[in-house]
Amino acid sequence: MNDSLIAAYSSETFRRQAHALVDLLADHLDTAEKAEQPVLPYAEPDEQLAYWEADFQKPANDDPLPLLADIVQRSIHLHNPRFMGHQVAPPLPLAAMTGMLTGLLNNGMAVYEMGMTANALERIVTQWLARKMNFGDNASGVLTSGGTLANLTALLTARAVTAPTDVWEAGHTTRLAIMVSEEAHYCVDRAARIMGLGSEGIIKIPTNDRFQMRTELLENYLEQAKAAGLTVFAVVGSACSTSTGSYDNLVAIANFCQKHKLWFHVDGAHGGAVVLSNKYRSLVQGIERADSVVIDFHKMMMIPALVTAVLYQRDADSYQTFQQKAQYLWADATAKDWFNSGKRAFECTKLMMSVKIYTVLRTYGEEIFTANVETLYGLAQRFANLVRHRPDFELAVEPESNIVCFRYLGGAHMPAELDALNTRLRDRLLKNGRVYIVQTTLRGRVYLRVSLMNPLTTDVQLEELLEQIHQISVNYLPTL
Ligand SMILES: *Cc1c(COP(=O)(O)O)cnc(C)c1O
Repeated sequence: MNDSLIAAYSSETFRRQAHALVDLLADHLDTAEKAEQPVLPYAEPDEQLAYWEADFQKPANDDPLPLLADIVQRSIHLHNPRFMGHQVAPPLPLAAMTGMLTGLLNNGMAVYEMGMTANALERIVTQWLARKMNFGDNASGVLTSGGTLANLTALLTARAVTAPTDVWEAGHTTRLAIMVSEEAHYCVDRAARIMGLGSEGIIKIPTNDRFQMRTELLENYLEQAKAAGLTVFAVVGSACSTSTGSYDNLVAIANFCQKHKLWFHVDGAHGGAVVLSNKYRSLVQGIERADSVVIDFHKMMMIPALVTAVLYQRDADSYQTFQQKAQYLWADATAKDWFNSGKRAFECTKLMMSVKIYTVLRTYGEEIFTANVETLYGLAQRFANLVRHRPDFELAVEPESNIVCFRYLGGAHMPAELDALNTRLRDRLLKNGRVYIVQTTLRGRVYLRVSLMNPLTTDVQLEELLEQIHQISVNYLPTL
């Protein structure tokens, strides 16, 4: 017996340290939610690395609490109501807490007995979400590690089910392609390239002035693709897009896919969660006709990263994605055994993701998701109103989701001046750290961008943001 291993596995030490950690995190939540500290304790990358390299030189300390406190201090704080940057949820404390449980149990999921409960719960939560899509009775789904992997998984299924040749066995013998809006998340492009479609295999459809796919162009682009010798097998709708949070017209895409017998995939990683709100559900009208849909639980649904559902209209399709035989895992490679996660998910060993979702559902009911979506989408409308009422700001486009793109005008007029002004403003905001927002480029021009991810954000922080931008411009950037 190794004494240090025995000590490291000691339940008593765990009890003591975990209680202390919970206290540390509860204190952190308290300060973060009251916005008592900057949302972002910004340090330059080299400075950050030097700090941790020096830390790494220290002798081992059997009390991990000072280290854990340091990590909290030197991280961005999503629970601060001035966190309005990227699309990652401030997780529900209950879901984070459940993460400690799943971390300790560490059931591997790939085969049934290595995740008995978690595989059953995965079945339940994916069926529940598929019903929310208004999918039919044959629907099913799997959980996977993030929207990027989920979109790749769904497109692999699409290719396996609809492509004229068996790429899994023979490799590419035909030139395949997918069609997607030019505003789609970059991971769709990446998935297509990973699948060996090359740049010609990702056909980008231009967007209208609201950054939605111009679906009236689909016919034309399909004709051109055919003429060039390409076989299009899928169309991807964005619900919503990442930069501006714009929803594609899913009904139009569904009609087009039905007519041409193409796979209809919806990337609802961010905005698919509106299926849980009667108020906003119409944004995804047509989603019930999709062959597959992706939804991130770590974006609009308050679960810690990464947890994503890939939902399928037809359960049978999900077993086509990977057609491998792994004798040591599954006795029958062809059986439709939902309880062996590894058959349909990309991962072999996988986190017990379903447990976090299920615990939240059983504790708060699905209303908690509805409340979050409606609060955040409502906040964006209020922020857009504030921007509209200030002559020194302008909206890039009317927001459809909780993502708002806007820019500060100040005294600048020329496009290049405005770009420089807003780039410098965002840089100053980042380093100041009091409030966190990001920037984006739309049709070549720089805009500031907020994603209202924290339901504890109120008009106070929204007004403060605009005022801060104005003040920075007056105090620090007088030359522009
Ligand atoms: C965030 C996002 C993704 C990527 O999801 P990850 O979970 O970050 O991998 C894909 N598509 C859309 C529309 C997104 O908003």
